[in-house]
Amino acid sequence: MCVVRVRYAPSPTGTLHIGGARTALFNFLFARHHGGRLILRVEDTDQSRQVPDSEAQMMRGLQSLGIEWDEGPDRGGDFGPYRQSERLARHQELANRLLREDKAYRCYCTPEELEAERKARQKEGLPPRYSGRCRFLSPEEIRQREGQPYVVRLKVPDTGETVVEDLIRGTVRFDNRVLDDFIIMKRDYTPVYNFAVVADDHDMAMTHVIRGEEHLSNTPKQLLVYQALGFQPPQFAHLPMILAPDRSKLSKRHGATSVEEYRDQGILPEALANYLLLLGWSDPNGREFLTLDEAARLFTLDRVQHTAAIYDQKKLEWMNHQYLMQLPLERVVEAVRPFITYALDNGPPLSDAVALSRERSATLVQLAESMRFLYEAPRTFEAKAVAKQFTAGVDELLEAIRDRLLSVTPWDHDHLMNAYDQLAEARQVKRAVLIHPTRLAVTGRSVGPGLFELLTLLGRDETVKRLQFAADALRTGTLATD
Ligand code: GLU
Repeated sequence: MCVVRVRYAPSPTGTLHIGGARTALFNFLFARHHGGRLILRVEDTDQSRQVPDSEAQMMRGLQSLGIEWDEGPDRGGDFGPYRQSERLARHQELANRLLREDKAYRCYCTPEELEAERKARQKEGLPPRYSGRCRFLSPEEIRQREGQPYVVRLKVPDTGETVVEDLIRGTVRFDNRVLDDFIIMKRDYTPVYNFAVVADDHDMAMTHVIRGEEHLSNTPKQLLVYQALGFQPPQFAHLPMILAPDRSKLSKRHGATSVEEYRDQGILPEALANYLLLLGWSDPNGREFLTLDEAARLFTLDRVQHTAAIYDQKKLEWMNHQYLMQLPLERVVEAVRPFITYALDNGPPLSDAVALSRERSATLVQLAESMRFLYEAPRTFEAKAVAKQFTAGVDELLEAIRDRLLSVTPWDHDHLMNAYDQLAEARQVKRAVLIHPTRLAVTGRSVGPGLFELLTLLGRDETVKRLQFAADALRTGTLATD
């Protein structure tokens, strides 16, 4: 059996979008599952829509997710070049062949003529469709038009149907009468997508084309091109759409939509890749957490759903939280570093801070923020908590706590707990009466990690300093709230 060859074929028109990333991932897993190859082909024929640096950005996005390709513009391969624009000569050669074989023809209709035709059809309530006028030009009429600009159109049969045997969606039939003689080469003699994609997929020996459902309606046109060229088409598989929870088209208001935005939001690439995997595919054993290696072992197209996949930002964040807790500590430390906007010199080792805080954070942004107090004394204090906790006499209480803490040795969880218990007993109050104001005084917040754990990390000097600061600020009425 021939080796599986699949491709991810982005147009470099922006950043790597969640839909594109999912397509790339599924192709990657399919290739790995079958011991095949993933090809990255950059479809840059539409120069006007290109965004500089987009190609490099997309590659970085794919790599961050753990998606590796075997052939591509950056690493070459036996089927290059891997930028579509560099394959132009071949596209032109194939178009010329179709013209010679009378399977395509030159169309000289001007944009104005086409517009008039479209309007006339519209008046009659008919869908836009090219009449095929230039298909029937006599040799004499063609001679008269020589030197005029033209496009090349494919001769599409106007009877019968084109059938797509889709590996995910089953048999999908298209009536040829709804297709017109569509353009394959533009006036500048560059190919349109539906032509170039066939030429390249054939020349690069693709066995399967796995892509988003929005391309299903292009597939009959591509099959007609295969037929005209006498090429064997690959097998097609169209992945379900990704929709928002309200089943509308996914857009910014539903959360991030590009891989870079997820990164900036503090979503781990491991979590994002895992989440993308579940957008249309499910594990035969019902597991939700899988590494890409595990997924590659299990990945088959018969487990791809037909119905739309629903994107849920909350679930992604939940998954990210699980990854934050379960990944090796060093990995989380490395991942959170770029999000830290405070100096780390005066505080505990970052790995201790992460170990203390990761359990309570959904994103790396939150994690970085939740560790700030370990390195910087709070400048403002949560207003609501201040109203509740810093009631009359608390300044004295904070100082009593400070005094008690001066004699805690060693400075660790159990000895701190003991000290609080003793002080609570001496003052005939519950331990919580001491814990909440302490937390607020040293962190500025009402929630966070366990108090004795965080005091252990903060150290005696800093704790004592902060208790004193809060007591003084309360006394002088200078405590700032937020
Ligand atoms: N360049 C096309 C896109 O980005 C590729 C479509 C295909 O996979 O055939 O949508």
